[in-house]
Amino acid sequence: MYTINMLNPFQNALSQLKRACVAGGLGSDILARMETPEREIRVAIPLRMDDGSLKIFEGYRVQHSSVRGPYKGGIRYHPQTDIDEVKALALWMTLKTAVAGIPMGGGKGGISADPKKLSKGELEKLSRGWVQALWRDLGPQIDVPAPDMNTTPEIMTWMVDEFEKITGDKTKATFTGKPLDNGGSEGRDKATGLGGFMVFNALRKKLGIMEGASIAIQGMGNVGGRAAEIFAEHGYKIIAMSDSRGGIFNNEGLNPARVEKYKHEQGNLSGYPGAKEISNAELLALDVDVLAPATMENQITDLNAGNVRAKIILELANGPTTPEADDILFAKKIPVIPDILANSGGVIVSSFEWEQNLKGEHWTEKVVNEKLKEILEREVLTVWNRAQSLKTDLRRSAFVTALERIEKAVKLN
Ligand code: NAD
Repeated sequence: MYTINMLNPFQNALSQLKRACVAGGLGSDILARMETPEREIRVAIPLRMDDGSLKIFEGYRVQHSSVRGPYKGGIRYHPQTDIDEVKALALWMTLKTAVAGIPMGGGKGGISADPKKLSKGELEKLSRGWVQALWRDLGPQIDVPAPDMNTTPEIMTWMVDEFEKITGDKTKATFTGKPLDNGGSEGRDKATGLGGFMVFNALRKKLGIMEGASIAIQGMGNVGGRAAEIFAEHGYKIIAMSDSRGGIFNNEGLNPARVEKYKHEQGNLSGYPGAKEISNAELLALDVDVLAPATMENQITDLNAGNVRAKIILELANGPTTPEADDILFAKKIPVIPDILANSGGVIVSSFEWEQNLKGEHWTEKVVNEKLKEILEREVLTVWNRAQSLKTDLRRSAFVTALERIEKAVKLN
């Protein structure tokens, strides 16, 4: 059975950290530095609801590490979001920017709220409220937030506008993931999904996966939806997709664009023609070449890891696999391409957006994608080679690679 700790994402992140320190023979200093975020900020955001009542929402920003550059990481709106989730996500961001080798640190933010229960006007006021409470702690050289679950380019526009009104900063470089006509970067909307594909492609042969293999993707938001389209465009067979209510399966392959149109029109996937309805639990246990979780933490745990039949796991979500599940998968010889590598395309292109804003430039999508590919192919090889030399798994190897870079930056500071 679960204990609370086993599903606490921050405890899981700390456990991953400790395992990596042992695998890499790292000293206690770097572990001590990473275990405690530099700053944790909790704010109360008052919101006048459409019915005239006042509700107070809890908002967060965790600034985990600025050793390698300004804090960088998304903002999540979710009813389950709490300080421990945000701390875990912030720690993973510190490691992700380091493994990507971009000049940024790690942070994360959020609001405990269910955006599905808010009107558009309430959502805008809440988003502006987050900035009103936190603007002193943000800025292009301080902390640069971005979208995450349930936050969109439109929400970034409200936030940038609020920040500009309060501070006068016109660079737009304090937020990334903005719409193209408001300082956004070409390629940012697809970057996490495309980056996931690039990472997979760079490891495919090494992991013994054939071109055109089958893939099941859990979640069809910004990350899962775009990834499904990109894998399908490259000839892969998307045999299952899902949203929070459940999924669909067709062994001959689904057309992701058609599935997304259906979901947009119907509100869910129920009744999709020519496919079998399955639960998220069934999706995770499919006999498939590649399983790509793209929703939340703790999807593959000690309770269901034994059911996984995929040949490999591509972690498009943050923290989908618990450390106990990692052990079970390792014993079953199912390699896991870890989140801090597999979904790093988003933050890499966010760093390009920040750079373009600061320099007053606008790069083409071709340039953005070429730069992204160059970074990912280089870093995938670094992580792979390190895993071979340390005789360890890809998660520990990615963590060790990141931690050594952070340690080096501490010594240089
Ligand atoms: P999103 O809000 O756009 O989409 C989330 C998707 O997950 C939706 O399809 C939703 O229906 C589904 N979902 C939510 N809860 C679920 C559950 N319990 N079971 C099954 N499906 C569920 O969010 P996103 O931006 O696509 O983020 C997804 C994951 O990817 C998160 O872990 C996020 O931290 C990570 N991530 C996002 C980015 C980015 O650029 N957006 C970058 C790196 C990592």
